[in-house]
Amino acid sequence: MVPRYSALFLAIAVANAPLSTDAKSRQVFPPGTMVLAGSPVQCGNAQTVVAPIDDIAMAYPGTILLDPDLFAMPDAIQHFWYAHECAHQLFGYDEVDADCWAIQTGKQWGWFASYDFEWMDRNFIYLRGSAKHPPGPKRLANLKGCYAKATKAGPPPPQPMQVASTATCAAAGHWRDVEP
Ligand SMILES: [Zn+2]
Repeated sequence: MVPRYSALFLAIAVANAPLSTDAKSRQVFPPGTMVLAGSPVQCGNAQTVVAPIDDIAMAYPGTILLDPDLFAMPDAIQHFWYAHECAHQLFGYDEVDADCWAIQTGKQWGWFASYDFEWMDRNFIYLRGSAKHPPGPKRLANLKGCYAKATKAGPPPPQPMQVASTATCAAAGHWRDVEP
C-alpha cells in the first residue's frame, strides 16, 4: 500500500516539472522544424514543444512550449506568441521587453499588420496581469506604442524565419515564463 505522503510528494514533483505533461500528447520539434500558420519559424537553437499547458505559451531556456489552443488563433497572433517566447530566449524574463521586441519584429518582417491588433483589442481585456505582467489594457497600450515606433517593413524574413540567431540565444539566466 502506498503511504499518503508519497502521493502528495508525487503531486508536488509533477507540479514543479516544466515538461511533465503526458508524453502521448506532447510533440517535440527540434530547432528549425516548427511550422506556424504555414510558415516555418525558428528561434536560434530553441526546440518547440507542443503540449497541453495551463497557458497559451511558455518558455524555458532552450525550449518554447506551445499549447495546441494556439493553433486556433489568427496567424499573426500565433507568430506573436512564438516571438514573445523567443524574446525570452534572448532577453530573459522581462515581459514588457519581450512584448515590444515581438511586435516590432512582426512589423519589420511583415507578419503583423496594424489590423492584427483587432484580436488583441478583443482579448487582452481579459488578461489580469501579474507581478511581472502589466494588466491587459496597459500591456496592449505598450504593444501599440512599440509597434508605432518600429521602423517600416524591412526585408522579407529568411526561411525558415530566423527569429533569433544562435549566437544570441546563450543562456539568459534562470527564468521561467509562467504566463505568456
Ligand atoms: Zn512572457
